[in-house]
Amino acid sequence: MFNKILIANRGEIACRVAATCRRLGIRTVAVYSDADADARHVAFCDEAVHIGGPAARDSYLRADHIIEMAKETGAQAIHPGYGFLSENEDFARACAEAGLVFIGPPAEAIHAMGSKSAAKQLMEKAAVPLVPGYHGEDQDAALLRREADGIGYPVLLKASAGGGGKGMRVVDAGEGFEAALASVKREALASFGDDKVLVEKYLTRPRHIEIQVFADTLGNCVYLFERDCSVQRRHQKVLEEAPAPGMTEERRRAMGEAAVAAARAVGYVGAGTVEFIANQDGSFYFMEMNTRLQVEHPVTEMITGQDLVEWQLRVACGEALPLTQEQLRIDGHALEARIYAENPEKGFLPSTGTLRFMRTPPAVQFMRGGDAHGPAGVRIDAGVREGDTISPFYDPMIAKLIVWGRDRDEALHRMSQALAHYHVVGLSTNVAFLQRLIKSDAFRTADLDTGLIERNQATLFPPQKSAGIESIALAVAALLERESKERRIDEADRHSPWTHAGNWRLNGRDTRTLYFEAAGHKLEVVLKGDVRDTRKSTLIYADQAAPFAYTFKADDIRVDLGTRRTHGQVHREGDTFHVFHDGRHTVLGWLDPLLHAGEAEGEGGKLTAPMPGKVIAVMVQPGSKVTRGTPLLVMEAMKMEHTIAAPTDGVVSEVLYGVGEQVAEGAQLLAFAVEEAAGA
Ligand code: ADP
Ligand code: ADP
Ligand code: MG
Repeated sequence: MFNKILIANRGEIACRVAATCRRLGIRTVAVYSDADADARHVAFCDEAVHIGGPAARDSYLRADHIIEMAKETGAQAIHPGYGFLSENEDFARACAEAGLVFIGPPAEAIHAMGSKSAAKQLMEKAAVPLVPGYHGEDQDAALLRREADGIGYPVLLKASAGGGGKGMRVVDAGEGFEAALASVKREALASFGDDKVLVEKYLTRPRHIEIQVFADTLGNCVYLFERDCSVQRRHQKVLEEAPAPGMTEERRRAMGEAAVAAARAVGYVGAGTVEFIANQDGSFYFMEMNTRLQVEHPVTEMITGQDLVEWQLRVACGEALPLTQEQLRIDGHALEARIYAENPEKGFLPSTGTLRFMRTPPAVQFMRGGDAHGPAGVRIDAGVREGDTISPFYDPMIAKLIVWGRDRDEALHRMSQALAHYHVVGLSTNVAFLQRLIKSDAFRTADLDTGLIERNQATLFPPQKSAGIESIALAVAALLERESKERRIDEADRHSPWTHAGNWRLNGRDTRTLYFEAAGHKLEVVLKGDVRDTRKSTLIYADQAAPFAYTFKADDIRVDLGTRRTHGQVHREGDTFHVFHDGRHTVLGWLDPLLHAGEAEGEGGKLTAPMPGKVIAVMVQPGSKVTRGTPLLVMEAMKMEHTIAAPTDGVVSEVLYGVGEQVAEGAQLLAFAVEEAAGA
């Protein structure tokens, strides 16, 4: 076995590979760009080498430089992960020439499968079933059109060199053909530097079913069963599972043997995936082969109990495959959800930012040798930690959440539970969307095909509901708790501006009205009774009123609304309350009466930063007398200026930040005392 390898990747897959190496006693060298100096994979590996600027072409794609670094650090092999250099035949060849083992297939196999059209020509010879289509060399537009007419519409135009769901266009009728062809060629040239296309029959309601294959250098080749990756957006996978629902033993064997034949036809070695597109009746066709470890490999590990990275390392060392086909078994059912920094409501646009707060369900991290899924049946493969940033330079995947169950139903329940405990603040994620997807009838009943998301728009994107009373009650509990804590601190500190603020006073009344803002709407909540002493009162919200009590248990808040007991978590950032309840994330902005002049009733207080940013002007000094609405300070954040104005007439008692200083969201900027009315 190797003593030391270099991992030419980043993020979760770099950590994933390192985890197995650690277990096998192999030292690891990480590589990192400027953007990743503090990344988890750098901390996770034994050594790390800086390789350049944040753009991939300046770092993770610098083949020669990476090879140099491998030699310099004494690594014997390079694991390319997925993406980046993993399917680059020149890189595989250059590794060999430099005396390093490329942990992947031979360059010739990458080459053979690199072009979708050339691969199809090979597969045709190996008698692997193909989607009816044209994958020839001749790219004459009139010829392609004749082929499309012959195949019958709808057809799919695909870039031969394509990948990642890019460079594909469906053509519904002959009239649209030329325009679609021109656009695919443009995209293909721009993204892959090659405008060659193929034409194939566009299947309606197909499923994406792929087979994991493994070959060693001694001539053994096995399949580790299938994964169903039909749930996709923009031809990219969102949920993956193994085994495929509805699969019969007979068809599994047929697909497995076809995949092994495909691998053998190109002299394959190592881990590979043969992707098939399948009709609802079970007939299947070769689509492409991915000559690397796949993003969704963990579901296969969960059902087979095998560590595929360990298999890769053993094969790369020249060892035989650890198991034969007869020894491989399927145990239970596994699901993987890709947690992305993206906004499903806005067409799944990627979102960037800092993971300011992140809580995850109890889980094992990465693959554990001998214990495929851990006691809870939940595994998380993540390349980021709380405080890390999802930058625009790389894939916006935050983590892969993988669950195992004795059957699909149990796996579904576990996934739903686990998603409910995945709390992220700082950027948009698809967690709530995944939760709806998992619970949707279509997915639950395994009515799978690649159009599932599009067809179920109505259920998957329900109209935004306003915050429920439970979420409101949780936020109120968090607010009251914070006030009582602050009061305790303030009582110990006579000089604090809060000493005079009377922040938890009912002004002699036993009613308090709180205002929150959610999704642009102002919500009114009324509390009656003495919440301070007994933590018992009545909460009135929308058209509901309920006896209200709460208790804290570490991170968890328990709320009683009459006889209904519920619980959840609240993460507070300044006056913003992130409420996690019942699998939903509700953002409530507390409208501090001091800052919202109309409702002002306090005697003084603090003025806080509504967002992280920089102070660009301060118009007042301690002692400045101002009238309500006077600009006090200007902040700049996200290229927008934001003016902090006096909430009422009063005196500035303290200015806490100067021009040019960076402030965190919720930071107190100024202290302010309300002007006593003349003569009072
Ligand atoms: P897979 O076919 O393994 O499921 P996808 O189709 O999701 O992979 O991704 C398509 C391509 O996008 C991958 O081949 C890989 O090149 C790239 N990719 C996906 N996720 C990442 C990531 N986290 N880091 C780098 N590249 C990625
Ligand atoms: P990529 O290299 O981008 O992964 P693939 O050829 O693997 O490209 O196709 C990606 C996805 O596009 C498939 O998973 C499937 O959803 C869809 N697709 C591909 N070929 C067809 C087809 N002939 N008919 C219908 N959908 C297809
Ligand atoms: Mg594919």
